[in-house]
Amino acid sequence: MPAAKVSKSVYLVKPGEAVYRDNRVVFASSSVVLVEDDDKLLLVDTGLWTDCDKLLQGLEELGLSPSEIDAVVLTHLHGDHCGCLDLFNCPKYAHPSEIARALSLGYDLGCRPVPRRFSDKLWILDTPGHVYGHVSVVFEGEEVVVAAGDAIPIADNLLKRIPPLIRVDAEMALKSMERIAEVADVVVPGHDKPFRIRGLKRKPKIR
Ligand SMILES: [Zn+2]
Repeated sequence: MPAAKVSKSVYLVKPGEAVYRDNRVVFASSSVVLVEDDDKLLLVDTGLWTDCDKLLQGLEELGLSPSEIDAVVLTHLHGDHCGCLDLFNCPKYAHPSEIARALSLGYDLGCRPVPRRFSDKLWILDTPGHVYGHVSVVFEGEEVVVAAGDAIPIADNLLKRIPPLIRVDAEMALKSMERIAEVADVVVPGHDKPFRIRGLKRKPKIR
């Protein structure tokens, strides 16, 4: 599948995939999202290590090469979300607790602590539950798009209020999904197609 437009200034460079069997995840490769924030290009997640050709192809379809990316934000440091990180020489960011977790396992991915905000329109939402240091990326363009990583692995997690199968805290994960639902018009899940939730939001109470 070629790179696809998600919303104005937001593109799906590579779609996420997940294969479930007997209530277990047997294959997972993350979505890779590009946000064009004025003149800066920010990438969210870099897929599985076997995805690098697809990622490069997706960028090429958007007329881009890895050297043109200004920053990479990793929603968390599971291997199916940061597999092709070496393609990029720009600053790479993750939550400090994820950086520490990876280091404790012997992986130094060269990530810096993610700032709370990149611009007026582009900011970070803490979405713990899948791991403690999970972050989602919020872009307030014409629509509010949230690249949710594994805070929302597939659309059904949010639509049916099911916490991610892999998690450190189910309650925390459910709260994080609600937090995303409160701000997003469009969600890009970690392992599923982007979907719109504007019409599904709770209507404001009439006084
Ligand atoms: Zn994960």
